[in-house]
Amino acid sequence: MDFLDDVVSKAKEAIDIASKKTGDAVAVQKQKFDIAAIESKLAKDFQSLGELYYKKIKSGKETDESAAAIVNAINEKIGKINTLKNEINSIKHKRICPECGAAVDDTSNYCNSCGAKLTYENAENTDE
Ligand SMILES: [Zn+2]
Repeated sequence: MDFLDDVVSKAKEAIDIASKKTGDAVAVQKQKFDIAAIESKLAKDFQSLGELYYKKIKSGKETDESAAAIVNAINEKIGKINTLKNEINSIKHKRICPECGAAVDDTSNYCNSCGAKLTYENAENTDE
């Protein structure tokens, strides 16, 4: 009986250690998950800060020589995106509403999203 009690208590001890280890692993996993969630939010904060700063530089409220290369790279990419968007819109026979940014039929006189009156002037012919 003594032997059996000893085996049982040893087994119980082993289970306690194992479950403590499992508990630790779960806690660590939770911490890692929390870190990843916070890091993701941090990245968004940095992005917002970057956009805020970019707008300041673009509007001339701020000048920063050290950021000039990045600002140029951003401008270049925005230009490429706009060119591609214009290509898509001309393929789809759509144009962008200047008021709300919705894609509207290039024959519509009013935006079907915000109702703004659309004017067609040759002045804003930027592509080609
Ligand atoms: Zn609109």
